[in-house]
Amino acid sequence: MKPIQMVDTKTQYLKIKERVDAGIQGVLDSAAYINGKPVQEFAANLSQYLKVPHTITCGNGTDALQIAMMALDLQPGDEVITPSFTYIATVEVIALLRLTPVFVEVDKETFCIDAKAIRAAITPKTKAIVPVHLYGHAAPMEEIMDIAKEHNLYVIEDNAQAIGSDYRFTDGSIKKTGTIGTIGTTSFYPSKNLGAFGDGGAIFTSDASLAEKLKMIANHGQKIRYYHDLVGCNSRLDSIQAAVLNVKLEFLDEYIESRQKVAAYYNKAFALHNKLTIPLVKPYCSHVYHQYTLIVNGVDRDELSQFLQDNKIPNMIYYPVPAHRQKMFDAFGGSSYNLPLTDWLTERVISLPIHTEMEEEQLNFIINHLLKFINN
Ligand SMILES: *Cc1c(COP(=O)(O)O)cnc(C)c1O
Repeated sequence: MKPIQMVDTKTQYLKIKERVDAGIQGVLDSAAYINGKPVQEFAANLSQYLKVPHTITCGNGTDALQIAMMALDLQPGDEVITPSFTYIATVEVIALLRLTPVFVEVDKETFCIDAKAIRAAITPKTKAIVPVHLYGHAAPMEEIMDIAKEHNLYVIEDNAQAIGSDYRFTDGSIKKTGTIGTIGTTSFYPSKNLGAFGDGGAIFTSDASLAEKLKMIANHGQKIRYYHDLVGCNSRLDSIQAAVLNVKLEFLDEYIESRQKVAAYYNKAFALHNKLTIPLVKPYCSHVYHQYTLIVNGVDRDELSQFLQDNKIPNMIYYPVPAHRQKMFDAFGGSSYNLPLTDWLTERVISLPIHTEMEEEQLNFIINHLLKFINN
């Protein structure tokens, strides 16, 4: 059996090596390392795939969130509602821009921000909501957009973990996650579902004037070179990364299917076990399984994690400390929050290996070991 990895980007690469190598060679031949043709091509291809009018590429998913918040002219002290149960990048940029993060609970079944909790957290200072499509499952966007409309709030979708996921509205219409809110953002970090061979990110919007502003902010606030109208930053997707992503985008749907097959295999093995809760999928979305995350009950999660590790089964806790308990947020009153469900999940989640190259033998090995530990 091949050694088990959390992600296997190497085997994935070898299957499309010729095309990826040709793309990279093309950049080397052109010497257009910055903003070369592949960058514009990739932005256009991604727009087409997501059916969103505007895609602005940038340096990484954290920058994408920051640029999005800068473009909305949020002011210090403005409140931004966000889950505490997320990767730090989501909430870090809120603090970086001197905005006030307001942490709310997530839904126990989907790990995503809870719409009722959003409603309860709205104050006259609230300006924006940042839902995260965690692990590849969509936040309840229809309800979130209704709330945003009612209260005149911006919505920035952190789509770093769910690119390619479909969201179904009650009227039957379908949109890709990341294209529903005022702005959507994503990351092309190598282990993400659409991963580059280095850092990368993108921002999405349907609003043309907002798109222009986002583009300017990512490029030192300039539209005409050396004329800087806005305070911006320097955040670019490299031509080489765009060349890689252009090839991989063609395979994204296939990659998603492979992940869904792995998840289905795990689900079948774990569904009826009373100490395990498998990831649920709401009928409104397609889960793209950036992570396959179980909730374990009545078992010491950390001992399970160690047991798997001892048997050469990598596994991860996403995330071991929720945002509101990070020292970083002491100054924002983080420790005064009472988010029992977030704490409860933090102590019980465990993510198993899931990627596009997993073999049945590996899955059986993982399942057998996990069940052996749990049944003891
Ligand atoms: C990965 C990730 C980011 C940040 O992306 P980078 O490209 O690493 O900056 C932001 N939010 C979430 C939910 C992520 O998973």
